[in-house]
Amino acid sequence: MARVHNFSAGPAALPERVLQEAAAELMDYQGCGMSVLEMSHRSAAYREIIDDAEATLRRIVGIPDSYRVLFLQGGATLQFAAVPMNLMRTGRAGYVVSGVFSGKAQREAERYGRAEVLATSEAEGFTRIPDLAPVEERAQADDLDYIHICQNNTIYGTMYHELPRCLDVPLVADVSSCFLSMPLDIERYGLVYAGAQKNAGPAGVTIVIVREDLMGAGAALPCCPTYLDYRTQADAGSMLNTPNTFGIYLCGKVFRWVEDEGGLVAMEARNREKAALLYGLLDRSTVFHAVAEPASRSIANVTFRCSTPELDAEFVEGARARGIEGVRGHRAVGGMRASIYNAVSLDDVRALAAFMEEFESRHRI
Ligand code: PLP
Repeated sequence: MARVHNFSAGPAALPERVLQEAAAELMDYQGCGMSVLEMSHRSAAYREIIDDAEATLRRIVGIPDSYRVLFLQGGATLQFAAVPMNLMRTGRAGYVVSGVFSGKAQREAERYGRAEVLATSEAEGFTRIPDLAPVEERAQADDLDYIHICQNNTIYGTMYHELPRCLDVPLVADVSSCFLSMPLDIERYGLVYAGAQKNAGPAGVTIVIVREDLMGAGAALPCCPTYLDYRTQADAGSMLNTPNTFGIYLCGKVFRWVEDEGGLVAMEARNREKAALLYGLLDRSTVFHAVAEPASRSIANVTFRCSTPELDAEFVEGARARGIEGVRGHRAVGGMRASIYNAVSLDDVRALAAFMEEFESRHRI
């Protein structure tokens, strides 16, 4: 069986052990005589699966009891609406716009109240994280319900290396593309959310970790659908309706894999090693250049370009011919992007680096 080197941005590579275990259990889950796909979400066997997934996630992240974990549907995109519908109690929140998804989140929030842009790097083509001083200053006033950031910008390949200090205002972060790639100090946030399809599992599961005191009874706006009310979902144990049973089961397996591989500290060390290999090569190159400014570079999505779109296309084609998939940049920005999530091995990255060197030697100026 030949598997490609998969650098897709999401859905993305999953650990082979997870796929193998799921395949082995597909027809008969641990002697139940049926697949997890066929099992009632109210059954004892499934209860164990979802409870185990949550317990493992709590262990690897270090989530205190004062936070609730929700497994929802609708992707991070639905959270762009759920966050203001639950947290915009006085009708005003602050947004840092550092790329496409934080812009979408800000525009969505405008439907429910005033979503003030506190800082943006749009003028720099989102090649860096904006200066956070105005955010921290604005956080000192007490009229914001929360401050929203997108911690890793999947499309531009930038990430926050420091969080804004906003002690009195809950920090809300879209962590979709950096979740589980490094330790997460959950107590610095009021809420984080992530679409699972990068580092945590398959598409179709959205993980929300929310501080208990932000979910008072009846706290959501009247327009909030029952499904999106965090309090209701927390009280129902993410089972208000039929959850994505198979997706949550796979997430649980990914969490176990992360734990067995050494947890988030080990994930971060590996991700930094993979990223350093690619950025080092890009910084020495005369054919490629990195897109993100050095101080804002992501360790999850490495964006780069050649000098012309024609060379970019030739690179993407050449990579595919060598079993290297998913390196075409997002359609909004072009160029190339290598997503080096947890399940992408150092060997995968070495294969990409070797092809980059070969391409470089053919096109060196
Ligand atoms: N936020 C970030 C940082 C993302 O990378 C993505 C998707 O790639 C989204 C939000 C949108 O996620 P979803 O497709 O799960 O709605």
